[in-house]
Order: sequence, then C-alpha cells, then structure tokens
Amino acid sequence: MPRAAYERMRAAHLAVVRSSLEDHIARLDWSREQIERHQNHRLRALLRYAQECSPFHARRLQGLDPARATISDLASLPMMTKRDAQEQWDAIVTTQGLDRARAERIIAEQQWFSYNADDQQIFSSGGSSGVRGVYVWDWQFFVSAACLAWRTQARAERRAAGPAGTPRLAVLEAGIPPHASTPLFDIATAPNMETVVIAAGAPFDEVLDAVAAAQPTHLVGYPSVIGRLARAASAGDLRIRPVRVSTNSEPLLDEDRQAIRDAWDVPIHNTWGSTEIGVQAVGCGGGEGLHLCEDEVILERVDEDGTPVGPDEPAARTLATGLANRTFPFIRYDLGDQVIPLPGACACGSAFARVADIGGRRDDDFRYGDTTVPAIAFRHILGTDPRVSEYQVVQTATGADILVVGDPDAAALTSALVAMLGRYGLPQRGIQVRVVDGLTRHQGSGKLRRFIPR
Ligand SMILES: [Zn+2]
Repeated sequence: MPRAAYERMRAAHLAVVRSSLEDHIARLDWSREQIERHQNHRLRALLRYAQECSPFHARRLQGLDPARATISDLASLPMMTKRDAQEQWDAIVTTQGLDRARAERIIAEQQWFSYNADDQQIFSSGGSSGVRGVYVWDWQFFVSAACLAWRTQARAERRAAGPAGTPRLAVLEAGIPPHASTPLFDIATAPNMETVVIAAGAPFDEVLDAVAAAQPTHLVGYPSVIGRLARAASAGDLRIRPVRVSTNSEPLLDEDRQAIRDAWDVPIHNTWGSTEIGVQAVGCGGGEGLHLCEDEVILERVDEDGTPVGPDEPAARTLATGLANRTFPFIRYDLGDQVIPLPGACACGSAFARVADIGGRRDDDFRYGDTTVPAIAFRHILGTDPRVSEYQVVQTATGADILVVGDPDAAALTSALVAMLGRYGLPQRGIQVRVVDGLTRHQGSGKLRRFIPR
C-alpha cells in the first residue's frame, strides 16, 4: 500500500476515533450498574461471534450458552496462553482468507504501516516472554483501543483551559512498523493539536534535540525515555513546558514518575496495554493507580489453575477477555502481568475499578539457585543515583554486569550493589559497572529491556 493511500485511510480512521471519543468520554461517568450491564451484553456478543466464526473458540466454548453467559461463567473456560495464540493462529482468526502466513507476508512486504483489503492492520511485537507475536487489528478494534488510550486525557483537555497557542503532542514511540505503538498513540486529542513522532529508540541526543525543536505541550511515550527527558529538563538541558504526560509500553518506575513531577509538575496518565488486548487500564492523572477499561476488557485474577481468586488473595496470573476484538478473539488470555486491586473510591469519582501501577514483570527478577534478587533492589540503587541517566542490568552467574549512561562514581556504585547482593544472601557477589555512551534498544520497538536474566 503506497504511503499516501495509507495516510488517506488513516485520516478516515481517525475521524471515526474522534466521533467515537464522544461516546467514550460519556462512559467515564457511568455507574457500576451501567458498566456491568454493558460488560454482560458485550461478553455475550463476543462469545456468540467467536463460537460461530472461530474454530479454536468453538471447541473451547462447547456447552456454554452465550445467550445466558455471565462474567462468572468465564471461570469454566480454559485459559488461553501466548503460545496457543501464536500456534493456533489460523484456527482463531475469524476472517476468511487471512492466516498467519499471509499476516507474516504483509509485515515483510509493507514499506510503512498499512491496511489490507479488509481494513485490518497487522502488528507484531517481541514481548518479554520471548514468544514473537503477530496480531491483527480490525477497523473497530483500533477505534476501541484508541478511545481507551485517549478518552481520559481528552476529557481533561476539555475541562482545562489548555496551553496558549497550538497544542503539540510529541509521540515518543517505536516510530516504525510493525509495532502498534505509533499508530495507537500518534493521535491528537484536542482541537487543532499537532503531533510529532520522534523515534524513542534513536540516540538520546537526537531525541533531546527533536523534542527541544518540537516544543511540545504534551508528551506521550515510553516512561524510560520521558523520565530521561525530565531529568535533562531539571538539569537545564531541555526547555519545554508540557501540560500533560502519558506513558505506556513499559512499567512506569517510581524514579521516572518522580523525575517527571520534579521537572514539570503535570498530570501523568500511565497506560497499561498489550498488542493482544489493546488497552487494559489508564491512570486518571489524579488518584493512585490505573482505572481498568472494564467496558471493553474483562480481567480475572486467577491462581495457577485458572480459578478466580478474591481481591485480597494473591493471584498467579491475570486473564483478559477483550470485548472489542472480533477478528482475533482473546478469551481468558494470560497476560503475564500481575495486577493488585486498589480498594476504595478514587478521588476522581470514577466507578471504574482500579489496580495499582503495574510494576516490573515477574521475569525481571533474577534467580541465583534458591536465591531471588528482585529487580526493585537494583532499581533502588541505580534509579535513585542522580548521575545515572539510564541503566541496563545483565544477570551473570554470580551477580550482574551493569551498563550505565551518565557520570556516576562507578566504585561507589559497585560497592553499594555488592552490599545489596550480600543482604539477599548471595555467597559470591560479582558486580561489574561499565559507563557507556548509550544502550541498545530493541530494534523494532525502541523499547529498553532494563533487566536481562540469564
Ligand atoms: Zn481516578
């Protein structure tokens, strides 16, 4: 598909997103009863469609009556793993004439983002599990995900006076196909807003120059990059006056949140999503944690066997059922992230349930025999050193090799890390700190893997 043709399709698509945002903004004021009624209707519609059009799901949904199903009936269905999704692709997809081989071909042959003849987009992502995923987003699913990603901010824009002059959004995402982040987040949410895409994986000096030149009033992107921009701003190396920051795709670490607060003192909307489900939760910018997008996604916290657990009980997995994805239904899909419900009402007044900010992933923790050193232990030391602007921790047999960007006291850092490993009971404690000019980000997505286990 030629780029110009893609841009025309995308403009038509974004026009639908803008009109659908009206409905989505109104949903933010829904009561619990409205949310739950909507969830049940949508769940029944999804189950019926999947039973009819997806051979994979038809098998798994045998014996379930979609006309009567409720959320609690989901517990009787098997879980769906990342491996299921990728290995059974052709049996899951509901579009005639689309299979995994064709989707792979589209990714390989497209020069830029593209739509196929059925108005679908094909995306891919590596993910932390190591299983490469290929995903299809149909027209309506993209509209849903875009509205979820932006409705909270769009409502806030309407309520606020807004910045003087033309609002401009700097989009610090992968910047290139096949990762979904750029099409999803390169979306203007206020009248007359301009957007500027800046590849987050470029050398930091280039990112810094591009952001300075763009003079954005709004930022969206990877928290590790925006956190670093905030530290540059606090150090006097970047002069911008953003009024709102949205983060996604990586865990928002406390140190990055604090750096953003210190630099600009603006609302931060953290987003938790996945290429499979789209957007699962978004922070309101006021209260703690993230509000679940319960109108489009059903989440279940379950034990190892897939049995739901109570809000106060620990869960082994988080399963998601995406209510908007008809072309590739995900029903009880294991997201690999762990969520912790937040009790009580949010100060913003929303009836949508909240979860705590999604921390590092489970596989960020390093295991040495019977001893586990959590990623947070490294973060506490590396993330709070003002002379460390970025870091990567690579596990070794007896400790870790640590790459650091900045101007730290490497000897002091090394002894602090060795002492920390000692507190966790590691017999030998091998720490090597190397100061480097830059870190290698994932080539396709531009994401930084901060913790690399052996
Ligand atoms: Zn809230």
